[in-house]
Amino acid sequence: MRQAGRHFLQIPGPTNVPDRILRAMDYPTMDHRSPEFAALGKRCLDGIKTIFKCSGPVIIYPASGTGAWEAALVNTLSPGDKVLMCETGHFATLWKSMADKLGIQSEFIETDWRVGADSDAIGARLADDTGHEIKAVCVVHNETSTGCASRIDEVRAAIDAANHPALLMADTISSLASIDFRHDEWGVDVTVSGSQKGLMLPPGLSFNAVSQKALEASKTAKLRKSFWEWDDMLAANAKGFFPYTPATNILYGLAEAIDMLHEEGLGNVFARHDRHAEATRRAVEAWGLEVLCREPKFHSSSLTAVLMPEGHSADRLRKIISEKFDMSLGAGLSKLADKVFRIGHLGDFNDLTLLGTLSGVEMGFEIAGVPHKRGGVQAAIDFLSAEAQSAPSMEAAAE
Ligand SMILES: *Cc1c(COP(=O)(O)O)cnc(C)c1O
Repeated sequence: MRQAGRHFLQIPGPTNVPDRILRAMDYPTMDHRSPEFAALGKRCLDGIKTIFKCSGPVIIYPASGTGAWEAALVNTLSPGDKVLMCETGHFATLWKSMADKLGIQSEFIETDWRVGADSDAIGARLADDTGHEIKAVCVVHNETSTGCASRIDEVRAAIDAANHPALLMADTISSLASIDFRHDEWGVDVTVSGSQKGLMLPPGLSFNAVSQKALEASKTAKLRKSFWEWDDMLAANAKGFFPYTPATNILYGLAEAIDMLHEEGLGNVFARHDRHAEATRRAVEAWGLEVLCREPKFHSSSLTAVLMPEGHSADRLRKIISEKFDMSLGAGLSKLADKVFRIGHLGDFNDLTLLGTLSGVEMGFEIAGVPHKRGGVQAAIDFLSAEAQSAPSMEAAAE
């Protein structure tokens, strides 16, 4: 049966693609060796730096985020190199198993999946590594499986305090353009990201923002690579081209997304995400339920993972919400399967999208017989309307 109205895609990525971006991509595919293409290539390669806040190159792959994870590792490391990773959740675990498959020796600092990376533990481990065997520290900035965001600035400070030369790699696949991130200022060497979350694009592009130190490391890195080779990319990118066929139509969308983010202002984009995350947490609290992230300092502004009451299935709730209200919510992953559901509030998202989303959840609780207190949506309305009253109006903000 046809479902009227828009589908609510409230998983924490892929996210809703705004009409303006859909229209920007609605062109015939162009010749990717033509001068017209070079202009688009340049616009994307230069523009994306303002989103990573970096001065060095950003490499754009026609691949999902997983490809950019691999590119970060194979371009900088050699077989048998040691890397220090942080077990913040499912995505950190996948990145670690990729490192293991590639022949890297990875070491995990564990958590209970309810907090971000422990920078003190990273600092202590590095201070012990007096022989500098650890070549890189890899941290997932926003752990999409748990809704805990790590403090990359604090990880940087811990590496510096230990006076350790390891590279710092950060996965910002679900934080870029949603949560404040500063590649240069925080001394990140390789930042990994993807198109389909905060950048509001369809899946299909992924990124490596690369520091000078990472470029140096790439000169001696011996892991095998071909498709992911930075050198080939950088040589072609210098003229706005790519060594193989790029995802041309998504690049039209990327150029538009960069413009849209600057029209709103990156600071305003981050503040909007913070505000919607706070409203969501207030709703969860009013329902009498628990947010998975147990330390406010790690609260994610991209998504909120909500713990189900004991004995109630998150997957059954999600199924009911999908069937009745045409809304997708994120599932619990690996050890959190069926125990949590995840509300994505990142990307192209406003107050009323959030209230629609929370209403779908609250109605789902009623139908599924999940024990909860009423009034979560009201708590979000109270917070959002009080904030809207005190904030300057959109016209005033534009002046
Ligand atoms: C989505 C996501 C990934 C995986 O990206 P794909 O595009 O699915 O390959 C990796 N890390 C994080 C933090 C993510 O949110």
